Amino acid sequence: MSNSSALVPISLGEPVPTGLLIGGRWSESPGGLTFDVENPATGESLATIADGDLEDAAAALDAAVEAQASWGRTPPRVRSEILRRAFELVTERSDWFAEIMTLEMGKPLPDARGEVAYAAEFLRWFSEEAVRISGDHGTTGDGANRIIVTREPVGPCVLITPWNFPLAMGTRKIAPAVAAGCTMVLKPAAQTPLTSLALAATMQEAGLPPGVLNVVTTTKADAVVERWMTDGRARKISFTGSTQVGRLLLRRAADTVMRASMELGGNAPLIVCADADLDVAVQGALAAKMRNMGEACTAANRIYVHRSLASVFSAQLATAMSQLRVGNGLDDGVAVGPLIDSAGREKVQRLVDDARDRGAQVLTGGVVPEGRGYFYPPTVLTDVSTDSAMMSEEIFGPVAPVVPFDDEDEVVRIANDTEWGLVGYVFTTNLDRAFDLSERLEVGMVGLNTGIVSNPAAPFGGVKQSGIGREGGRVGIEEFLEYKYIALPRRPGPKS
Ligand code: NAP
Repeated sequence: MSNSSALVPISLGEPVPTGLLIGGRWSESPGGLTFDVENPATGESLATIADGDLEDAAAALDAAVEAQASWGRTPPRVRSEILRRAFELVTERSDWFAEIMTLEMGKPLPDARGEVAYAAEFLRWFSEEAVRISGDHGTTGDGANRIIVTREPVGPCVLITPWNFPLAMGTRKIAPAVAAGCTMVLKPAAQTPLTSLALAATMQEAGLPPGVLNVVTTTKADAVVERWMTDGRARKISFTGSTQVGRLLLRRAADTVMRASMELGGNAPLIVCADADLDVAVQGALAAKMRNMGEACTAANRIYVHRSLASVFSAQLATAMSQLRVGNGLDDGVAVGPLIDSAGREKVQRLVDDARDRGAQVLTGGVVPEGRGYFYPPTVLTDVSTDSAMMSEEIFGPVAPVVPFDDEDEVVRIANDTEWGLVGYVFTTNLDRAFDLSERLEVGMVGLNTGIVSNPAAPFGGVKQSGIGREGGRVGIEEFLEYKYIALPRRPGPKS
């Protein structure tokens, strides 16, 4: 990590940069401003990093624009091998990345290692896609012209990532952009910038040329991103975060007609049918709820269980959830780390109190523990009223609300009665019912008898207000490619 401008003052084994990455150089913000990154398990400051301003934003975009022409013409194999090398480096440094994520985001180390493997896989997947970009060839209907269709990089991209999966949300955008030949300006979440800085340093080491990936850490997200979006030279925005901010960015994208990919919030229904395998359903619900302490867009937010199974399902889920150890994610045996901040925890408590006021029973959890850190216990609520606030808001915490249902048509109607449509989960042992419910749910992804859908080989994304576009899978690279059609008249060749 020879380009690091400064070291994070904690023992990570390797230094982590704390500056801005612009045009291949690490630097402090010329304005000298900095901000602190907090450890949510302790409330202590982990590091002080550069707080980029509008000048830095402009310099980063200048660097991306300058690098675009040559980077866009780089042989696909070169781009592929940079990504492959990055995959190897991230994998070799799994413990390092995992520790950084646990420190700044809170997730337990085993989960963080899982995220490293998931994140690294996007680098490998898109290293394989970089050399498979192809076009098309045809003839016009009247036979007079040839149609040649080529694919080109979209151009400089604005990438914005959230705090909940700081590494994977980065590689899920950076890897296809690199594969397609796009340059980038990246603004990571202010609460988890260290992971992105470590990734950027690793990408440099893997051979990514100067200016291809520029990173501006900042507390002025709105102003910095607005600077990029109103400039006119950035051609695409790829955003992962809340629907609220996504809407704002879509409105801004209209002004310069930027292409937009939006990975936004969710309100996932999880449906357990009367014929479900109970153990599979409980384990599936546990995974869908507790991944990342419930701080996931894919988290099961509403659990609908057929009335015939509701009480035994709730009891088993409560037993499983109450056995999960809560604590500092660095400690052995911890399965549930802290939430990201006090505001996040207060929101979870507000939603639990509201459900309780409307008649919900608390089977386990539900009380904020004493002491430092933003911990919240795994919580199971039963008999949750459908007008409870948590039925229409992302909980973003380890709280599982169970609602009994009697009729399948009714549960589909309620499941779809939301502005979101990211993912839904269905548990049933009947094949026809499985397909029928999967088809009727208004979502971009369905987990059938599983609580985990995320995979780099699959197209991740939502419908309705959960987003626009897909990340990963064979379509992931499409988001960063444009079509160009070349018309060529069909004339007889010269006679020799
Ligand atoms: P957020 O508040 O929308 O922030 C996401 C990113 O946008 C952060 O980098 C943030 O910067 C930045 N941002 C905030 N306001 C902005 C503005 N006015 N202009 C430009 N950028 C702005 O979301 P979050 O709380 O970090 O993440 C949680 C949300 O992300 C949840 O809704 C979750 O469902 C969603 N999510 C979706 C997916 C998916 O794939 N669909 C995946 C993960 C998360 P600061 O950090 O500086 O505020």
